[in-house]
Amino acid sequence: MDSITAQNLLKLQEIDLKIEEVKSKIEKIPAEIKRLQEEKQKVIDEFEETLRQKKQLELAKKEKELDIQTLQERIRKIEDKLNTVRSNDEYKAFLREKAQAEESIIHLEDEILQIMQQIEDLQEKIKVLEKEKEEKVKEIENQINQKNEEIKNLEEQLKQLQEKREELTKQIKPQDLSQYETIKKKVKTKVIAIVDDQVCTGCYMVIPPKIFTELLKSNQLLRCPNCGRYLFYESK
Ligand SMILES: [Zn+2]
Repeated sequence: MDSITAQNLLKLQEIDLKIEEVKSKIEKIPAEIKRLQEEKQKVIDEFEETLRQKKQLELAKKEKELDIQTLQERIRKIEDKLNTVRSNDEYKAFLREKAQAEESIIHLEDEILQIMQQIEDLQEKIKVLEKEKEEKVKEIENQINQKNEEIKNLEEQLKQLQEKREELTKQIKPQDLSQYETIKKKVKTKVIAIVDDQVCTGCYMVIPPKIFTELLKSNQLLRCPNCGRYLFYESK
């Protein structure tokens, strides 16, 4: 292999590494977008939960108001009956029943006042939360838009890299290219390992002296006897 091929394979590797990097960035983004969408939904749900609490309090208030109406109705009936009772015992029993109903009404009115206070407090809280929610949702949506923009840019980068790769491979002999691809499939990461202090930086084995001497003599790509990567030595 001549040194031009060696240089071209090094360039090819550089492009391939960039392609891998861009691809892995693209792959990660959908999960990030999903996480952001979940975060947004959580913010919305939390706010709506507060609205539900308020609605429940309003329902409870309404129920108690109806209870009061029922009790008032009962009191009116008791008052009617009081005019017609004959016995003293019956009279006393009705009075007792009326007093109980009146007491219940007072109790219910107290409860209603408490609920009204709770609703008022919650209303204040809702005002603050609503503003917070809107800001958070807006911020998250911005982030989602950014991520989508990022994917678009990365895909454009990938397209350019692939075009560049295709241009470059035209300058490499098919058998050299095919060997490069074979090694790439095997080692997954870098096909060409820089030799550093007589060590292959692909597998971190010391290179046999004979191969190392050959490396020093030429600019050619030799292969590591251990991992099969091309070895590239640059004299410092
Ligand atoms: Zn090696």
